[in-house]
Amino acid sequence: MQEVILVKLGEIVLKGLNRRTFEDRLLKNIRRRIARAGNFEVYSMQSTIYIEPKDEDADIDEAEERISKIFGVIGYARACVCEKDMDAITKMAPEYLNDTLAGFKTFKVESKRADKKFPLGSMEISREVGAALLRANPHISVDVHNPEITVRVEIREKAAYIHGETKPGAGGIPVGTGGKAAILISGGLDSPVAAWMMAKRGVELTAIHFASPPYTSERAHEKVVALLKKVGEYAGRMDMITVPFTEIQEQIRDNCPEELATVIMRRFMMRAAERIARERECSALITGESLGQVASQTIQAIACTDAAANMPVFRPLIGSDKSEIVTLAHRIDTYDISIEPYEDCCTVFTPKHPRTRPTLNVVEAAEQKLDVEQLLKNCLEKTEIRHL
Ligand code: ATP
Ligand code: MG
Repeated sequence: MQEVILVKLGEIVLKGLNRRTFEDRLLKNIRRRIARAGNFEVYSMQSTIYIEPKDEDADIDEAEERISKIFGVIGYARACVCEKDMDAITKMAPEYLNDTLAGFKTFKVESKRADKKFPLGSMEISREVGAALLRANPHISVDVHNPEITVRVEIREKAAYIHGETKPGAGGIPVGTGGKAAILISGGLDSPVAAWMMAKRGVELTAIHFASPPYTSERAHEKVVALLKKVGEYAGRMDMITVPFTEIQEQIRDNCPEELATVIMRRFMMRAAERIARERECSALITGESLGQVASQTIQAIACTDAAANMPVFRPLIGSDKSEIVTLAHRIDTYDISIEPYEDCCTVFTPKHPRTRPTLNVVEAAEQKLDVEQLLKNCLEKTEIRHL
């Protein structure tokens, strides 16, 4: 029995003229991501993408797991491929679905006849397949209004496909159709979730991480790598740029008022990130900030931070509660890594009483003590790139 995966496209079916670009990108992303699961043929027809194993070694379980994390997929189902013949279909449906149906009490069959040359109408197909499933599964009954599971039979161009429930996909739009942006990633809970949210909207990511050795450790750095690998299961592979931040933090600590240290530090992050972003053709920055969460995330502090950047700064979590962020972190499986207790460069120099309503002119005046250009030059000369 040959099994395939049928992928239903998301928002992209609505995109008019752009549709071709979106669909091509999604096909490319699917091909690239499932290559590791073995040899599959991937093609699209009539708003459905077909994923067919090409040999014995192609691991369809692994392919399914990978498909579940690809943005642009609204839903997917494993289906068995059958000859377009009613006898073959009524024989194969119970063979393929008996294990699935064992867990349910009610079902219905829905059929779609995309191939109009097929002799039976969709109602008749459903009736015959339903009868065959009932004969093989005396424990279940038909409920057309409220079935626990809907079995689908699709008569398409090349073959007939039989499957159980369609699982929800990751949604969003294909990565690479929304331009490029740089995510400022810490080891915390928020920034990995922010990265995932922007990738969901089609953005291709580059990651920028500020490290302050010896105040921050190699373990803290590895934690960020682990987080990015998790995010990469959805966002695709990306580069991580590590920026040495120790000198800047020490200079701020030694020369600026303590209560402004955080906002000044964040302005340096923006400046350095913007330069890296431009060099790598990213047109926006992304952070994991959420309004009011900490002193540096008040409107006034964010205004000061933003003033240091000359490109759009996306903060997809700005209106999210911590509990909502935690729910997403569990969903994308970054939570357990994020709560590991390694220090971040933000936490090692945290002032006791940070100013919650800084004003730009006061902050700029405090920065006069620093050679901003030189400090940026020093740290940007020593960045390290890692291909994840
Ligand atoms: P997170 O959970 O993402 O660490 P947070 O709520 O702890 O966020 P902050 O530590 O103030 O908030 O950081 C705010 C944002 O600044 C982060 O979401 C991240 O985008 C960025 N950021 C913080 N620390 C770093 C770092 N070491 N390297 C890169 N970006 C950072
Ligand atoms: Mg943090």
